[in-house]
Amino acid sequence: MADTALKEGSETKEFLDAPDVFHAKVKTVAKWLREAEHSMVFSGAGISTSTGIRDFRSGLNTCLDTGAGVWTERAAAKRGVKPSKKPTKKVASTLKAIPSPTHMALIELLKANFIAAHVSQNTDGLNRRSGFPPDKLCELHGNTNLEVCKKCKKHYLRDFRVRNAKRVHNHETGRTCTVPGCSGVLKDTIINFGENLNERVINKAFKYASKSDVCLAMGSSLRVTPAADIPEQVAHHGKLVIVNLQRTPLDSVAALVVHAKVDDFMRALMVELALAIPTWKLTRYVEVGNSSKPGKGRAEGSITTFCRSTDVDGTPFTLFKSCTVTLPSAYQASVPGPRPMRLQPQPNLTVSGRHPGTARYRCEFAGHYKEPPIELPIKLNLTGGEHFVRYKIELDMATGKWSKTVLSCDGVPVEGMPVAGEKGGASAGAGSEPCSAPGGGLAGEVTDLVSI
Ligand SMILES: [Zn+2]
Repeated sequence: MADTALKEGSETKEFLDAPDVFHAKVKTVAKWLREAEHSMVFSGAGISTSTGIRDFRSGLNTCLDTGAGVWTERAAAKRGVKPSKKPTKKVASTLKAIPSPTHMALIELLKANFIAAHVSQNTDGLNRRSGFPPDKLCELHGNTNLEVCKKCKKHYLRDFRVRNAKRVHNHETGRTCTVPGCSGVLKDTIINFGENLNERVINKAFKYASKSDVCLAMGSSLRVTPAADIPEQVAHHGKLVIVNLQRTPLDSVAALVVHAKVDDFMRALMVELALAIPTWKLTRYVEVGNSSKPGKGRAEGSITTFCRSTDVDGTPFTLFKSCTVTLPSAYQASVPGPRPMRLQPQPNLTVSGRHPGTARYRCEFAGHYKEPPIELPIKLNLTGGEHFVRYKIELDMATGKWSKTVLSCDGVPVEGMPVAGEKGGASAGAGSEPCSAPGGGLAGEVTDLVSI
């Protein structure tokens, strides 16, 4: 990445296609996407400005609600110039921003096989938070919520900004890897000025480019290399489509340049392709369960309950501010301190005794989207080993309520498992056992999972 501002005026000037020109171009892009075998998207800060996150290189007189770009404003301040226009949209924290129509349209384009991959220069975390599958995504400049173990390369997502180093080229976060036997130092994934891109990520991005017949480059000034070399590569053997308000250095090699706001372009393209833009829901993945150990001799043994969260691909995801556990009354004698037990930050609890019943986890989130706490039951399984239920939970932003689906039991996928009492879902039916673990034990119950 380079801290570079554009020349005010000639380079920051914005253009908007006339409506008839714009619609003709949208039709052309739709035709190319239909004909292409493999297409990709390349994006920059312009796909996030409508969420309230500022870009870097918009001019002092931009038409965008977020106002002048960060570098533009900084360069102007050095010359003693202030933006003539104040931002008309409140600048959003990347942790609270809601994915844009463009972010959401990309998910549908991927599902409908119009695109195969998304290469992004954005670090705001919105690509993953929108629900775009991580295996089809390359975040060239890192992700503010992602840290990685220096030693074993394990990834960890956090519901907070992971970077806390003061010096530019120091990336250690002060946290350590929790893979058994590793304890490696974790570092943030942000690429700062003068630093090389992650080799694995950039290679994957170039591989997508080499296969692509069409590349939609959206909301990027296409001036930062080596990132901009990716869409340029597609221009050499396929069709590069640039959607941007400003002109870019790659306009001369592009098959088509659309001067429009990216959300306007994407809305029109989706209409042309007869696809709907999905509504965003905050989606999280949570596993709750227990393990048990038989006692030796006359000892009664013990149980360990746990609650853990991951991303869609299993990457550990630190989501909870705290969890409170309530155990069946048979355990009260062995539980020290106040009850229910508040656990921070590792929501595991080991107590002596092996009694059946249901433990309950009440989990509180960081609350960037005002997520209400959620209560998750664990039907204790005493057959030894680890037993757990994996849920997908989704927060409807309009109602502020969680809905939930059981995805698997003890790692075995469950097809279309309903949660009893949910509207719109098939009913589990009274007395049915929704989740039988291997070995015949019931791994968890889903009948009284409630939002609070
Ligand atoms: Zn590690």
